[in-house]
Amino acid sequence: MGLERIKGQDSAVSLLTSAYASGRLSHAYLFHGPDGVGKEAVALEFARALHCETDGLESCGSCSACRMADGLSHPDTHLIFPVPTTIKPAELAELKASGLKAGFRDQDFGRKTAVISVDTVLSEVVVKANKRPYIGPWKVFIIADADRMTTEAANTLLKTLEEPPEQTVIVLTTSRPTALPATVISRCQRVAFGRLSRKDVEAVLLADPRLGFEPKEAKAAAAMAQGCPGVAVRSGRAGLAGELRSVALIMGGSRLTNASSLLDEANRLAYRLGRDEQQKFLNLMLLWLRDVLQLSQLRGSGGSSAGTGGGNASGTGEPEILYAGHRAEIERMADSMNVDDLEQLIHKVDDARRAIERYSNPSIVFTSVLLDLAVVRKRASTRRGAAHGVR
Ligand SMILES: [Zn+2]
Repeated sequence: MGLERIKGQDSAVSLLTSAYASGRLSHAYLFHGPDGVGKEAVALEFARALHCETDGLESCGSCSACRMADGLSHPDTHLIFPVPTTIKPAELAELKASGLKAGFRDQDFGRKTAVISVDTVLSEVVVKANKRPYIGPWKVFIIADADRMTTEAANTLLKTLEEPPEQTVIVLTTSRPTALPATVISRCQRVAFGRLSRKDVEAVLLADPRLGFEPKEAKAAAAMAQGCPGVAVRSGRAGLAGELRSVALIMGGSRLTNASSLLDEANRLAYRLGRDEQQKFLNLMLLWLRDVLQLSQLRGSGGSSAGTGGGNASGTGEPEILYAGHRAEIERMADSMNVDDLEQLIHKVDDARRAIERYSNPSIVFTSVLLDLAVVRKRASTRRGAAHGVR
């Protein structure tokens, strides 16, 4: 175990392990990369490995240092993160204990109102850094979302960064490195974090049962997380169910009954959602279509698709349906659309996804993709109506 159990951040992990192996750990690191990509999780694992009683940058998981690290109670690991200025000390202790799930903080007040104050930096970093470690040999300070330090706090930290005490490692994490003073950045070794593959996000979500994701849910959550497991952790299972529902309302057709509802929906998606959320939405549309395609192919391979009993091949079993809660709508679509319809739609949604990536006008992109959806739905139902009429 140890840092190598971290998924998808190989370059960050190998930088830290080789620095440790050669006895050249830096006094201060700046972990930078997108929100929710796992910077804090790596920082915590790094601290755990430094404290573990085994040699090297490993953590055994069973020594007393590892057990304390698991409970976030190791006295030589100090985690600091932005909090609202109005917070009371008792609430803060509660937040620290409950806020972390598998290394990902699920509080989202961080963006707007929360700061890291000069008082916090003084009492939690400066004073403690100048004391001996309780258990030793290392003291690790993790300052998460360090760009939320007030100017005064950053200046106070700077003195410690300039004259770092022995056996002390300070890790700053940020998704906005340019928001930090250049003087602070220049004192830190930069470590870049990139987005994870969808597979790695899925693995992260399933690795810790406390996150509560079922395999199917983890797959859907990974599809919408844009390479950042922390995003999925924060929205959680309930958030995921909500997202699936809103995709189902559109794909199931109940929000596309006429031209004006279609335009309303396109505008909502274009103007209410950010670009990341738009990508997420289109990814979920693709997963819906994939579900439909799977069901429809299963029926096709089982013989007549019009039979009421369905052609459920006995040996192969059921395909894995992500939208299990919306099975009836998926089946209805699989009944009415043929493979050409579905492949055409998958193509269109994929084009839309690329258009959003290229910063195309989202209003045009969503109007066009919803129109395609409505047209294919209409064509399929007309065809079905005609087929029934002939009989
Ligand atoms: Zn250990």
